[in-house]
Amino acid sequence: MAVRVIIEKCIGCGKCLKNCPFDAITMENKIAVIGDACTSCGSCLDSCPKDAIEQEATNQEAKDLSMYQGVWVFAEQREGKIMPVVVELLGEGKKLAAEIGTELCAVVCGSQNENLAAELFAYGAEKVYLADAPELEKYTTDAYTKVINAAIIQYKPEIILFGATHIGRDLAPCLAVKANTGLTADCTKLEIDPDDHKIMQTRPAFGGNLMATIVCPNNRPQMSTVRPGVMDKAEYQPNRKGEVIRLACSFEAGEIRTKVLEVVKTMAETISLTDAEIIVSGGMGLGKQEGFDLLKQLADKLGGNVGASRACVDAGWIDHCCQVGQTGTTVKPKIYFACGISGAIQHIAGMQDSDLIIAINKNENAPIFEVADFGIVGDLYQVIPAVMEALDKIG
Ligand code: FAD
Ligand code: SF4
Ligand code: SF4
Repeated sequence: MAVRVIIEKCIGCGKCLKNCPFDAITMENKIAVIGDACTSCGSCLDSCPKDAIEQEATNQEAKDLSMYQGVWVFAEQREGKIMPVVVELLGEGKKLAAEIGTELCAVVCGSQNENLAAELFAYGAEKVYLADAPELEKYTTDAYTKVINAAIIQYKPEIILFGATHIGRDLAPCLAVKANTGLTADCTKLEIDPDDHKIMQTRPAFGGNLMATIVCPNNRPQMSTVRPGVMDKAEYQPNRKGEVIRLACSFEAGEIRTKVLEVVKTMAETISLTDAEIIVSGGMGLGKQEGFDLLKQLADKLGGNVGASRACVDAGWIDHCCQVGQTGTTVKPKIYFACGISGAIQHIAGMQDSDLIIAINKNENAPIFEVADFGIVGDLYQVIPAVMEALDKIG
C-alpha cells in the first residue's frame, strides 16, 4: 500500500505531522510531504480534516503478491540442536501448505549444520534453505537478519512461521520491517483461506480477555510467531528426502554489531516444561515456598518436572520459567498433577490439553475439578506422601 498526499486538497494545517508515529511527514511550501520513513501504517489518514491523504495498492504490489510461494518455518537451532517448537511449526506448516497446495520449507542458520537438513526433511520439510557460516553459529540479530532477508528477497515465501522464543521474537520483527510486511506475535491458532491464501492468525489480546484474529491482506510474506507447546508436532519419518538450497553468507567487517562472548543458561533453558511428559504443579494451596520440595520429591519419583501457578511465581516462591498458563508456558504432558491450584481460567488455558489431569485440592468445588480426569479432595500434605508411599510399594 502506498500513502500519498493529494496536493490539491492539502491546506498545510500540519495535523498529520503529529499523528505520524514514524516522523515520516514534513512540510514543504505549506504542503505535507510523505518521506521514505513511511511504513504505510495509515495513522495519518483520519487526522486530515480535508481528506487529503489517501492509501492505495499499486499495480506493482498487487502483481507481487502472486509471486510469493511456499510456507517457510524458521528452524531455530541452539548448539546444533533443533528447538522443539520447530517440530510443532513444521506440523502446523504442513497443514497450511496442504490447504493452499504449496510446499513446506525450512530455513536454518548455523555453522557446520548440514546434518540438520536430514532431520528437517524427516519432519516434513520438502526444501531446506541452509545458511552455513562460522558467524551464524550463535544467534546475532544482524547476521541472521541479513542472511534470511536476502533469502526472502530471492525466493519470496508466502508465509513464514517462527517460534515465539526469545530468538524468534527478536528476529521476526526485524525481518518483517525489512520485508515491509506485517507480523502477528504469539499466535495460538492459525487457519488459512484456501482461496485468497490469507492466514487468520489468532492470539490472546487485552490480557487474554479476548482472542483477536489478525490478517495481513496486502503484503507478503505473512509472518507469525507461534507460541511453543500449542501446535501438534510433525510426524517423524526418517527416510523422507528433500532438496537442500544453500544460502549465500558473507559478512563485511563491522556488519555484525554484536559479539556473543558467553552463553549463560538460565533455569528456563535447563527445565523445559514444553517437553515434559509428567508435570507436578503447585499452587497457593502449598501455603509456603518449601511446599515445592514435596512436589519435587514426587516429580523425581515419576521422572517429571515441577510446574507452578502464577500466584506462586508472583509470591516469589518459584522462577517464572516454571509458570504454567496463559502468561507462562503452555504444556501438554502425559500426566499433569495440579496440587493446591484453584483452576483459574488463565491457568487452565495452559494445561487443559494434557493427556491426563490429576487434581488435588481440599475444596471440592474448586474449578480445577471441572477439567480433571481424576480429582482427590483433601489436604495435599496428606495426599502427596500417600501417593509416594503407594508408588514405592509398586516399585
Ligand atoms: P488460588 O486461586 O489461591 O488457589 C489455591 C487453591 O489451593 C484453592 O483452590 C484452595 O482450595 C487450595 N488449597 C489450599 N490449601 C490446600 C491444601 N493444603 N491442600 C490442597 N489444596 C489446598 N495464573 C496461572 O496459573 N498462570 C498464568 O499464566 C496466569 N496468567 C494470568 C494472566 C492474567 C492477565 C491474569 C489477570 C491472571 C493470570 N493468572 C495466571 C492468575 C490466575 O487468575 C489466578 O490468580 C492464579 O492461577 C491462582 O493461583 P492458585 O490456583 O495457585 O491460587
Ligand atoms: Fe506516517 Fe503512517 Fe501516514 Fe506513513 S502512513 S505518513 S508512517 S502516519
Ligand atoms: Fe495537508 Fe491534511 Fe496534513 Fe493538513 S492534515 S497538512 S491538510 S495532509
